[in-house]
Amino acid sequence: MDSSQFREAAHIAIDEIIQYYDTVADRPVLPSVAPGYLRPLLPPSAPEEGEPWTAIQSDIDRVIMPGLTHWQSPKFMAFFPCNSSFPGMLGEMYSGAFNAAAFNWICSPAVTELETIVMDWLAKLLKLPECYESKGEGGGIIQGTASEVVLTAVVAARERLIRRRLADMPEGEDRIDKAAEMRGKMVALGSEHAHSSTQKAAIIAGTRYRSVPAPRSENFSVTAAALRRTIEECKAKGLEPFYFTATLGSTATCAVDDLAGIAALAADYPDIWIHVDAAYAGSALVCPEYQHLCPPLASFDSFNFNLHKWLLVNFDCSAFFIKRRKDLLDTYSIVPAYLRNNFTESGLVTDYRDWQIPLGRRFRSLKIWFVLRTYGAQGLREFIRRHVKLGEYFNSMLTSRPDIFTVVTPAAFGLTTFHINPRTPKVSSPANRPDPAHEAYTNDFTPSADAQFREAANQISKEVYEKVNAQGEFFLTSTVADGVYFI
Ligand code: PLP
Repeated sequence: MDSSQFREAAHIAIDEIIQYYDTVADRPVLPSVAPGYLRPLLPPSAPEEGEPWTAIQSDIDRVIMPGLTHWQSPKFMAFFPCNSSFPGMLGEMYSGAFNAAAFNWICSPAVTELETIVMDWLAKLLKLPECYESKGEGGGIIQGTASEVVLTAVVAARERLIRRRLADMPEGEDRIDKAAEMRGKMVALGSEHAHSSTQKAAIIAGTRYRSVPAPRSENFSVTAAALRRTIEECKAKGLEPFYFTATLGSTATCAVDDLAGIAALAADYPDIWIHVDAAYAGSALVCPEYQHLCPPLASFDSFNFNLHKWLLVNFDCSAFFIKRRKDLLDTYSIVPAYLRNNFTESGLVTDYRDWQIPLGRRFRSLKIWFVLRTYGAQGLREFIRRHVKLGEYFNSMLTSRPDIFTVVTPAAFGLTTFHINPRTPKVSSPANRPDPAHEAYTNDFTPSADAQFREAANQISKEVYEKVNAQGEFFLTSTVADGVYFI
């Protein structure tokens, strides 16, 4: 494909993308294809000779479109959203065009320097404590996903504790054995409602994982007391808690752990790395009305949120802020001869490869820069507030029909969870015998009816959920917490 063919193909692609966005709301969110739908539509092996672009492009409609789930549809209400925007897409386009694996400053100074600047802009926009800005010991780095961030933090936390404990031991076999022995006793902690990425990170890091209770009576949040209890239980068993994920906006209900209480407890456990995962809800911190959540972050080690979830930056884009960048460098900076250069040696530049697990990295800051400049802080605040309002409106629709719906957790950051009240016979006769003529929905939680009610509520909520998704028009997510099945 030469440049004039590229121009023609790209113009058509842009027109098709615009047409897709203009009509996405009219499509059913979920595709109706069966598993394995794609293989019969494609040849069994790659073509021996190149094909004209027109043939390739027309296959978007023929083979790809039928198998797409439309995440950008307003009827997509599953999981957390994955926002996109035209400036975000333009950022992706330029990044793809410049196509660099910019791991060191010298690999493309603009990639590194723009990243440092937009991360500082974000820290200010979210009113993060100043320790997360690059002017001091901290700073920000863009990673692909929150799971990547959590893994990066867990491994750095593990190695930090080993360094502290074995500071007096010389390098060598004995130290290696001792570190291996320590790793087997180390425990990463997370709320029972923390995203599964913490558990996964513990598996990869070769440590144990333990969840901290966050029951419905605490609005599914971890309290400082619950965290302390779990830490002490681990210690009593001879284990070493070294890391905790606090959640700001849990996956199931958007619960926020008791950040202020946990910050007060942090001083008692200086060897535990506390990371705040705000993957979805963190974007709301652009609004001053949510920024009261920020001061406790000064007592923690790191924080992340996904701009690709709720801040109009296309996937993938997780902002990771660290209080002491040395904590990452001490673990991830390994400098073989082929990565050495004068700029690195001078100590005047940032080499982001030393802050992350992979070596190569994409030019993700461009799409953040484009989005921040296109919408401005005000535009982003309006965007978030509109979603929050829509969540509250939806919540009010549910509560206006208490005969049918029970709200499990009220609108928080746009997310409302609810279940369907089961249809139960009304007890209307003096002999307390059900009268089938008076069937009604109920949300009556009498102690004796509780278990039965719960089972019936779980069942009908599941039926409704499955029916809605089977129709394909809307896409919802359900979960189970504290034995309650909810949508
Ligand atoms: N953390 C929380 C609180 C989440 O809700 C999610 C996903 O929804 C994640 C982490 C994982 O996000 P990612 O896909 O960026 O790894």
